[in-house]
Parts: sequence; structure tokens; C-alpha cells
Amino acid sequence: MKQFKTESKKLLDLMANSIYTNRDIFLRELISNASDAIDKLSFMSLTNSAAKLGDEDLEIRISYDKDARTITISDNGIGMTADELEENLGTIAHSGSEQFKEDNAEAQGGEVDIIGQFGVGFYSSFMVAKQVRVISRAYGSDETFVWESDGAEGYTLEPAAEQRATHGTDVILTLRDEPAAPADGEEAEKGFDTYLSEWGLRDLVTRYSNYVRHPIRMMVSKSRALPKPEDAGDDYTPEYEDYEELETLNSMTPIWRKRKQEVEQSDYNEFYKSTFHDWEDPARTIPFHVEGTLDYHALLFVPGRAPFDLYSKDYEKGLALYSSNVLIMEKCADLLPDYYNFVRGVVDSPDVSLNISRETLQQNRQLRAMARSVERQITRNLQDMRDNDREAYEKFFDNFGRGIKFGIYNSYGAKADPLADLLLFWSAREEKMVTFAEYVAAMKDGQDAIYYVAGDSRERLAKMPIVRTVLDKGYDVLLCTQDVDEFTFQAMRTYHAAAVAGDSENKGRDARDYDLKNVTSGDLDLASEEEKEAAEKATSEHEDLFSALASKLGDKVEKVVAASSATDAPARITTEGPVSLEMERVLAQGPEGMEAPHSRRILELNVAHPVFQKLVDAQEAQDDEKLALYASLLYDQALLVEGLSVDDPVAFAQNVCSLM
Ligand code: ADP
Repeated sequence: MKQFKTESKKLLDLMANSIYTNRDIFLRELISNASDAIDKLSFMSLTNSAAKLGDEDLEIRISYDKDARTITISDNGIGMTADELEENLGTIAHSGSEQFKEDNAEAQGGEVDIIGQFGVGFYSSFMVAKQVRVISRAYGSDETFVWESDGAEGYTLEPAAEQRATHGTDVILTLRDEPAAPADGEEAEKGFDTYLSEWGLRDLVTRYSNYVRHPIRMMVSKSRALPKPEDAGDDYTPEYEDYEELETLNSMTPIWRKRKQEVEQSDYNEFYKSTFHDWEDPARTIPFHVEGTLDYHALLFVPGRAPFDLYSKDYEKGLALYSSNVLIMEKCADLLPDYYNFVRGVVDSPDVSLNISRETLQQNRQLRAMARSVERQITRNLQDMRDNDREAYEKFFDNFGRGIKFGIYNSYGAKADPLADLLLFWSAREEKMVTFAEYVAAMKDGQDAIYYVAGDSRERLAKMPIVRTVLDKGYDVLLCTQDVDEFTFQAMRTYHAAAVAGDSENKGRDARDYDLKNVTSGDLDLASEEEKEAAEKATSEHEDLFSALASKLGDKVEKVVAASSATDAPARITTEGPVSLEMERVLAQGPEGMEAPHSRRILELNVAHPVFQKLVDAQEAQDDEKLALYASLLYDQALLVEGLSVDDPVAFAQNVCSLM
């Protein structure tokens, strides 16, 4: 027996031992695999002239055997070679398996997330089966192999004793035993017998796999009246006979071709979950049909949560591309901009050539036109969600907002319209997420910039002295905690606020641009004329002291000045130029060996603070040593308040001690 890989074992263990409430989905997972296998085969026959299919009927068959307690799911799709059986079923062939090893099940918050995140379709069969046998013959091969496992330690893989008649795969599940009858007063445990019935299987197929595009067929028993005998008397009661018939259980019409009025949301949800291997319902469903020079149907989904690998390089964006119901490409990346890479869905157009290849895709005018309208539809739907279902939108933004910010950043701000209006940031004043437009609408007269501060924790940012100062002046501050935030703002430079019409209560506003200003940058210009004058006066009054302090700090600071706006803190650090302290911190995490740009720092001292008098005293007493000590302490503690680490913690600790 061959052993499962470690991560497969963990997963199987979860499958087998969690009494998962929704184990019904095992059938949908196996049917999806069968349907994918048929798609692969029909696609191959379209693109490879050597693999022309005959008239054979591509289908999925389901059957069950009550006595043997087995269910069989068969397809005549592409099948698997021995190597493929080994590779596909012996390991979790997903890019996330490494990560899976790291984050164990508990840390992920229970089994549901694991199953959903990894889309471990095939293994879900072990939720209901104590043994699984897979018999497969690959297209173009005349060998059949059998893979078999009890889902615990390992599996066997052997040539089959009997050849399969055609290419394709049978998955045979031997169901687990029925749970023991409940003790008095206890609720009966859900058993497996329902799966061994016609209605049980039919129910699962129509519920979860109705829109699978290939026929799912099962032998069903029916009953019909026997012809009335010629000599039947008036009191004849009709007689019936039972017979069996192969029936197609699923509707097969592609769901994206149906008018949205005809489809229940629950059908869309099931289609989404089975097609894109997600566990959760989508946050938004976007069906649309475009007619005109270009004709196509599309059905797009915004997932309910981010896939685990969304921000990794393994993540592949794209929409499934169909031409007249034939799958051309599973993930057509050109149909989605990067910032909407999370969208899943299907685009189906009779106008797209079947032999479309990677190269022609770039130049394909139809495809580009489709991509543009797909993007517009997504934007419109997100706007609608933002305006009409804020709670859902905030959850969406939590999942995918980062990518939208990158969209602005990567386009050097060119995509700020319309992406900027999709962003949400935490408002320090309102204590909730707001859009730029909401920030602007709540501005007080005369405010001409949007203020923000960036760092790693909202709580810490809210406590920063400069943030309190700006808030006290009546200006809101956006607290930004994602690495990308400030880079996005730099790419935008300004936010363009649309005009707002006035009404009887509000004055309305003209359209205008607002600068985006980090409150820790030196040129904040918040101080009143008097305050500025006072600061300038203090700076020149203490010129000698400030330049002495600056020289003690060496190249750590550009200069030392008197703080202009009121603050409780004895000192703070601001910056001038394009690089803020937070950006410096983020950039310093870049690739090793890369020289990160430095911020130009200014130490601002609060001349009204009692500590300042100590500095003046030390200067007057010409106590150089003390002055150096004070300078470095004030500088370090201002850094700490900003949430940055001090350059030399040991020296800082020694300095504190020597003071005590
Ligand atoms: P997923 O379907 O998400 O890739 P699964 O664990 O369900 O993950 O299946 C693993 C792989 O096994 C599939 O990607 C496919 O290559 C192969 N496979 C599963 N079932 C079949 C089948 N019926 N016919 C051909 N290949 C299959």
C-alpha cells in the first residue's frame, strides 16, 4: 500500500471524522469532476484533429446497489492514466498544500474553512464512504487502472482485472454503516441510507448539479398501465407493470443563458458553489446579457470571502470562456482587470472563435470589448452594493479592498476614477468606515485637504498626539492600516470630489480636487497665523539651542524647530518631502539588499512643555553631555509615539537609566 502525503492525511482525517452537517455535497463534487473530465475531452477533440470524437454520447451515469451499499458515478470523459491517478488522488494537487501544512486545521477555524478553501472535491467522498474505488481508462490508452482506498493511511493502485469498455472513470463508493439506533430520548443520527435510493440521489442532483451541462443519467423505475384487454368488462380495474428507464436528471440548460427573472438566487448560489468549488454563497451575483454587434451572456460572482491564495503568485484570475456552450478556456485572464481578479464567472459568446489561442486573445477586438463591459458591470454592481447594502459592502471591502487599492497604485493613479470611490477608510471622528465622498461631505468650511495617517494599528494611530491635534481643529483623519494605503494616495495625489447639488438643508458643493495629506508631514499648514508666528519667533529665539540639538542628532534629522500647532507632547517627528515615516517602514521590509529611501525627518519641540525649560537650562549651563542625552531621548520617544522602533534600544534604555 502506498502512503498518502501528510497533508492529504490530515485532510482525510478531517473528512472522515468530522460529522460534517453538509456531507450531501459529496455527490456534487464527484459530478463536477466528471463534468470537468468530459469538458477536457471535448475541448481536446476540438483543438486536436487527431482526437476526433465519434458520435458517442458524453454523459455522466449514476447508479446504486442497495445490498452492496454502493453508489457509482461514471463518466466517459478524458479518464486518468496510472500516473494521473497517483498524482491527482494520492496527494492534494493544490498549490496551497504547503500552506496547509503550516496552518493547521484548528487555526483556520474549523473544518468548514479547510474544505472550502482547498476545494478538496474528491476527498469529500470519504465523508460518506468507508471505501472508494476509482476505475479509470485514459483517452487514447487501452489500459485500465484501479485506485482504491479506505481514506485512512494510504491507497493501492493496480492494473484492472477487467478492462473498461471506453475511456472514462467510475468512482465507486461503499457507504459507511448506518449509525446505531438512538437511545431513548436521543435524536437519531443522520444515516447514509437516503443515498441508496432513487429519490435521494435525484434530490441531490437537482439540488446541487442541475445546471451541469452534460447529461446526468440514472436508471429509474417507473410504472405504467397495461393495455386494457379486449374482453375486459365494465368493472375492469387497470393493471400496472413496473419497468426501468434511463432518465436524464438535470436540466442541462446553462444557467447563464436563462433570464434572471427565471432563476432563483438559490440556484445561482448552487451553481456558483459547485462550479467554483466554494463553500460560501457569493456576495453578489451579476447576470447580464449583451446584444448588438457583439452578443454574449455573462454570469459573474463576487465571492463571499477571499480565497486563501488570492494574494499569492499562484493565484490565477480569469473568467470561464464558452462559445455556444463549449468551454474554450477555463480561466481567460484577459477578461478581468487585475483589481477585479477576485471575480469568478462565465462569459459565453457565439462570436468567439473556438480556436482562439493565447496570442490572438491579446489582439482580439471582441474579447477586448467584452472585457470593457465586464469591468463596467462589476464597477456598477460594487457601487450599488456600497450605496444600498453597506454591511455586505464592508465585508466585501475587507476581503478584496486591498486589490482595488493596488489597482490605483499600479496604474499610477490613472484608474483612480472610478476606483477611488470604491475605497473605504476608517474615520477617526466617525469611528466607522467612510468613503472619500463621505469624508468630503462632512468637511467643515475652509478645509481643503483630506487628512490621513498611516501605521499598523488603528488604536495606536488614534492616540497619536498629532491626530488628536488635527481632530481638535475640527478635521477628520482617516486611519490607514494597510501597507498599500499611502502608496495609493501618492499615486492619486488628489481626490476629485464630484459636485454635489444643494438643497434646502445643504449648500451643495462644486466639483474640486482635494490634496491627500499625511498629518505627520511637516507642511500640514494647520496652525493659525498667530501660532505660526509664535513658532517662528520661538525658533529664531532659540536658534542656538536648536542647532546644537540638531548637531547632536547628526544625520538623524534635517533640523530641529519649534512646533507650530498646539500639542501636549514635548516633541514629535514630522517629515518633509515625499517619503513619510510609515512609507519608510514599509519600504524597509522590501527585498534584502535593496536600499530603501529614507524620510527627511524634522524634530519639532513644544516650547510650552516643561521639558523644554530643561533643555534651555542645560544649554545655559553649557552642559553638553546633558544636552546630547536629552536630544537623543526626545528623538527616541517621539519615534516610539509614532509606532516606529528606536535605532538603538540599548542606548535608549541606558539613557533612561542615566536620567533616573
Ligand atoms: P479539483 O477537482 O478541485 O481539482 P479533486 O480532488 O476533486 O480536486 O480532483 C483532483 C483531480 O483529479 C482533478 O483536478 C482531476 O484532474 C482528477 N479527477 C478527479 N475526478 C476525475 C474524473 N472523474 N475524471 C478525470 N479526472 C478526474
